[in-house]
Amino acid sequence: MICEPVSSSVFTEVLYADGIYDVLDYCVRACIMEEYPARRCKNCGKWFILTGHQGLEYCNRPFDDKGHTCRDVGAGLTWEKRSRDDKPFMAYRKEYKKRFARIRAGRISNEEFLAWGKRARAQKRACDKDKITLDEFIEWLENS
Ligand SMILES: [Zn+2]
Repeated sequence: MICEPVSSSVFTEVLYADGIYDVLDYCVRACIMEEYPARRCKNCGKWFILTGHQGLEYCNRPFDDKGHTCRDVGAGLTWEKRSRDDKPFMAYRKEYKKRFARIRAGRISNEEFLAWGKRARAQKRACDKDKITLDEFIEWLENS
């Protein structure tokens, strides 16, 4: 980067870029000079500059070949991960799907299914609050 006059009255920094990396390098430097806060993207792990509001956790680099950015997929990925780790939720969802299939097969009524869902969610809340163990919750699901 060198300084030179760009018009009769403006003397400023001029970037002669050899390629995209020079441009990126310049942008990073400019951001550091402007003291923009940087944050590590929760999805791809690369640093990005926070220019908008402070709550952003994902960068907007393209992430997949469908053109989604980290920001697009970020919320979904963490939901997937959270639900995988959330064992009471997984147990509930598995049983929910099983019973939902029973309605379609005409083996239980809609009302029975909804009533079960209500009881199951109450049990899940009890499990989330450690009032019953995960094993007890799963046992309840299987026998309810
Ligand atoms: Zn990212």
